[in-house]
Formats: sequence, C-alpha cells, structure tokens
Amino acid sequence: MRRGILAVLAAAALVWVLPNTASAQGRCETGRGVWADQAVANAISLYALEWAPFGATEVGWGTYLPLLQKELGTDCEPGTSDFAAALAGFQARYALPATGVFDQATFNVLKGVLQERRPFVMARIRDECPEPPPLRELGYLEVQEEHADRLTRLLRRDVLDAYRRMAAAARYEVPEIRNDPELLQIFSGFRDPEADSARCAAERNCDGLRRAVCSPHRTGTAVDLYVGQLLGMGVDSTRPESRQHMSQGAAYRWLVRNAGRFGFVPYIYEPWHWEWVGP
Ligand SMILES: [Zn+2]
Repeated sequence: MRRGILAVLAAAALVWVLPNTASAQGRCETGRGVWADQAVANAISLYALEWAPFGATEVGWGTYLPLLQKELGTDCEPGTSDFAAALAGFQARYALPATGVFDQATFNVLKGVLQERRPFVMARIRDECPEPPPLRELGYLEVQEEHADRLTRLLRRDVLDAYRRMAAAARYEVPEIRNDPELLQIFSGFRDPEADSARCAAERNCDGLRRAVCSPHRTGTAVDLYVGQLLGMGVDSTRPESRQHMSQGAAYRWLVRNAGRFGFVPYIYEPWHWEWVGP
C-alpha cells in the first residue's frame, strides 16, 4: 500500500517536472543547432574543471556562476546552448576567442570587469589609499542589523541608508531571506584604519599586509554581509568550498541580481563583501 502511494507520488512528480524541465530547456535552447557541443562542455566543466583562479586549487566554477550569468544577462544554466551563445558574445565583446566554452581567460576578463567597478580598487592601482570619512558622516547600526559573529557598529550614513533599503527589499522579495534574520546582517562595516592595523598585528592576520596598509573598510562604504556559512567554517572563510556554499545561497544570488539597484557592487573573491559606489 505504502509503495503504491509512493509510486503515485513519483508519477505525479514526474508529470509536473517533465513539462517544466522541457519548457525551461526550450527557453534556453534556441541556439541548439550551433552551440550544443559547447553546452555539453560547459555542463561538464561546471563541476569538473580543475583550476586555481586565486592560487588555491578549485574544482568547478559554480562559485562564479551567479556573477557570470548576471554579466551575460541570462539565467540559463551552463548546460544550455543559449548560455554558450551568450558566453561567446561576452568573449567576443572583450576580444577573446568566441568559443562559447568557459575557461580561465574568460574568468580573468570577468574578474577585471568587476574589479574596475570598484573605485577603491582603481584608487589602489593609482597607488592611492582613500582617506577615512570624518566621524560625523558615520552612523550607528541598529542591534538587529549586526551579525553576532563580530560587532562593527559604524557605516557611512548614506551607505547605511542604502543598505537598509536593500535589506528590506530582499526580505520583501524572498521568503527564504525573510525567514532567516541572520541573512544580510552586517559583520563588518567601517573599520578604523589604526584599529585595523593593530588588530591585524594582534591576530597575525594581515591578509598579506593589505588589510593593515589600506582596507576598503576604512572608507565606511564597504560592508561584509552574512550570506550563510558552511558548518565549521567562518562567516568570511575564503576556502573554495566555503565560498561555493555561500554563492549558492538565496541571499548571495539575490544580491548579485539586485544589489546594483541600491548602488552596491560585488567583490568576486568574497561573496560577503560589497562596496557602495552610488546609484
Ligand atoms: Zn569586507
């Protein structure tokens, strides 16, 4: 009897899943005649590519898929011909061979495009370190806005306003975010440059001296947002499996699609780190 019910449920699920899968594929398979092989190559490398985009070996490129899809202007999955076609368009736009297949060169361009949208990074390239804002421009976070992992207290007022509008929109639009109060809480905002360098010395974690010398958090416009964490790993663990886990959560995926509406841009290496650059 029990098996009978299960069979009926399974059949019902199939009846529901098949047409939906077919229509989803149909929507993303308009380029099937040209890009089918490339779609297969992307579907495989999504999970199997062994590479080291940031020094440590990573397997697959799912961590960067939300940002890539956003840049390509598609929500089609890598195993579809329309994704391959869109990727080829991106490659052509940046003078790469338009293979339609994901590779390290394409990733490097994506990384460069995203880095150029961060005024802080551009300033560092010019060998400048932005001055911290005057204290009167900083505002206090509300208790419920701070993540318990570490308290940060301050953010530039205009950025805090933008953050509040963004978090409210995310909670309104996505039940999964609304139902988990930790998601999108802030675990780092304004960091006083002097306190920051003292902390890096005390913790012996200077991130290659970068944090001590000039962190984007000194501007009061950078926020670290809680986007989930892998069990046993920190809220800002850069381990590949940690970043991959975060990048697949509802909060990060929503941010990638929507943070720009509120003036925030991503940092490709850290799913939690967002910088406000204005409307
Ligand atoms: Zn940060």
